[in-house]
Formats: sequence, C-alpha cells, structure tokens
Amino acid sequence: MKRAVYPGSFDPITNGHIDILKRALEIFDEVIVLIAENHEKKSRFTVKERVEMIQDATKDLEGVKVDSTEGLTVSYAKRVGATHLIRGLRAVSDFEYEFSLAAANHYIDESIDIVFFMANSESSFISSSMIDGLYSENVDISNLVPESVVKMYKKK
Ligand code: ADP
Repeated sequence: MKRAVYPGSFDPITNGHIDILKRALEIFDEVIVLIAENHEKKSRFTVKERVEMIQDATKDLEGVKVDSTEGLTVSYAKRVGATHLIRGLRAVSDFEYEFSLAAANHYIDESIDIVFFMANSESSFISSSMIDGLYSENVDISNLVPESVVKMYKKK
C-alpha cells in the first residue's frame, strides 16, 4: 500500500488542487488531503468547513482521506505510514517557496520525500486567494472550484 500526504491550506480547495490529487492517485493507492494551517496566511474558512468541502468534492474518488493537523506535516506523514508528500507547482514564483519548504522538510526527516506535479495549463492560474477575490467581486467561480465550495461561499 503506497500512501502519500497532500498538505496545504485548501482555503478553499480549487479545481487546481483536485487535478493534482487525481494525478497523485494514479501513483499512490491512498492520498490523505491534509489541512495544515499556514500561519502566514489569514484563513477564510474554518478547518471544519474546509474538511467538509474537501470530503464532498472527493466523495467519488477512490483512495482519498481528509484530515487536519496542527503539527508538522512530516511528523504526520511518518505517523500514518506515508512515504511521500505531494505538492503542486504553478508559476516560477511557486518554485522558490516550494524549494525551501522541501529543504526544511528534508532537514526534519529525510525519509519522507516529495513528489511535485506541474499545474496543468487550464488550472495553473487558479489559487485559493484568487477565488476569494473573484467571488467578492461577484465573478462566477463555478468552473474553477468544486460545487461544495460554491455552496459554502453562499452559506457564509
Ligand atoms: P499552502 O498554503 O501550503 O501553499 P495551498 O492550498 O495554497 O497551500 O496549496 C497546496 C499545494 O497545492 C501547493 O503545493 C500549491 O502549489 C498547490 N496548488 C495550489 N493551487 C494549484 C493549482 N491551481 N494547480 C496546481 N497546484 C496548485
């Protein structure tokens, strides 16, 4: 059983995240989508709301679990027996951050490696903060995020 952890803020989950998740599921038997709070970012949705949106958006995908952690991602991965972390790369601007994050993770625990997927051209411009900005300007976001996210925005 090959298990990986896909950590992120997922605030909210977007079609870009879902694309990376589906591609990771072609390699790993199980992928745990892990809400790991990024304290540099102010969050829009609570962890509970984010879990709910991700669970609904991934209910038809086999091999997906959803969880959250307050601690280090690598410690979580080790605890659940995952061998790899999954991350996505969009523009060059993602690279610097991901590169130092990968180095820090490697420093903490070199037994956990990271697999990067390049964003596909259709969703490479999507970010959670952009979704938030578009929604607050009344732009239709329904082609950019799962249905559960649109519903949660309407509920808020
Ligand atoms: P974080 O705050 O940890 O960066 P995010 O939820 O913003 O969390 O992103 C989680 C991961 O998914 C990151 O590796 C990010 O680069 C990747 N990602 C986000 N949006 C996209 C997208 N549209 N296409 C591909 N990867 C993406």
